[in-house]
Amino acid sequence: MLRQIFFEIQAECPHTRARAGLLHTAHGVIETPVFMPVGTQATVKGLNQRQLAEELGARLILANTYHLYLRPGHELIRHLGGLHKFMSWPNAILTDSGGFQVFSLSGLRKISEEGVAFQSHLNGDLHHFSPESTVDAQLAFGSDILMALDECPEYPVSHEYARESMYRTVRWARRANNHFRRRIAEMTSRHALFPIVQGSMFPDLRRECAIALLDLDSDGYAVGGVSVGEPRPLSLGMVEATEPILPRDRPRYAMGVGMPDELPQYVARGIDMMDCVLPTRNARNGYLFTSEGRLIIKHAQYRDDARPLDPNCSCYTCKSYTRAYLRHLFLSGEILYASLATLHNIRRYMDVMREIRCAILANSFLQYLNDAAQTSGSVSDLHPGDSNG
Ligand SMILES: [Zn+2]
Repeated sequence: MLRQIFFEIQAECPHTRARAGLLHTAHGVIETPVFMPVGTQATVKGLNQRQLAEELGARLILANTYHLYLRPGHELIRHLGGLHKFMSWPNAILTDSGGFQVFSLSGLRKISEEGVAFQSHLNGDLHHFSPESTVDAQLAFGSDILMALDECPEYPVSHEYARESMYRTVRWARRANNHFRRRIAEMTSRHALFPIVQGSMFPDLRRECAIALLDLDSDGYAVGGVSVGEPRPLSLGMVEATEPILPRDRPRYAMGVGMPDELPQYVARGIDMMDCVLPTRNARNGYLFTSEGRLIIKHAQYRDDARPLDPNCSCYTCKSYTRAYLRHLFLSGEILYASLATLHNIRRYMDVMREIRCAILANSFLQYLNDAAQTSGSVSDLHPGDSNG
């Protein structure tokens, strides 16, 4: 099958697994590695689409199948011309499969070979997701990149449960893939479906899952089930176990990661795409990421601080306002605070990704990685294969 999206590698780091590339989609070209702002309800909370596209330069955002399926419904979105038109977003959209939210948000749920039955967290109504129905919902959205339905086990689970669950995720991915290929054969628009590597915190299961999913010859692969409460070295270890098996010429997406100082760590392990709610959620809660570390805006020390939030940031918030003013807005519960804080936090993530990409292209990524680890005080040593869960 012809590639629906095309991944072009521009540079590879000779010392790590990092690479810089271009992801060609029907809604534009995306520079990788890329951080995707999370727009759960077809909106990145606190920002409008012009800020996202023009001020922040976002080329790819994530929206949430579970939430949009429940409300307003995929058929309504399809009727209104698809998600791009519905939310007035000109660039690319990735939608998750809904699996993660079914397992983390919904009330009663029952997993069977057929799929998962669950109760809406909004009103208790019963619904059912199958590998086929979540592909249909995501095609109704018109997503550029769809994710196959998976089971994301909580942490920790037994090896036995993780294996059983992983085999089911592989069977679901095959069904999703077969259905997807039938559906897009009748369509003129271009979409890609990524299967998700699971296997909890067991490297042997991760490898087995990745090998099984290679048969699907997908346009990209995701590593899911990380960032579910496990210690950070374990998440990185799961990526290390998986990544060498995945095809070099396809993008790899680590789902739900991470903190700003983790971004280069994942890139060093061969990851091209990431998403995380932290920059948006933390912004609203008063936790701001700066080039000098984390800043908690409510602290009294900022009461009369006339400096910008981050002197090294050129976002509108940092160019225009003082820490004292942002603290005042936060303590007063003003709407403007959430907007200004989110704008800055997303900008910080985008800046980190730009720095990473530039470093890979300039063949100085290892230096960048070491400098970043020293600044953040985190452990950066790469020891592929020693993180057995
Ligand atoms: Zn800023």
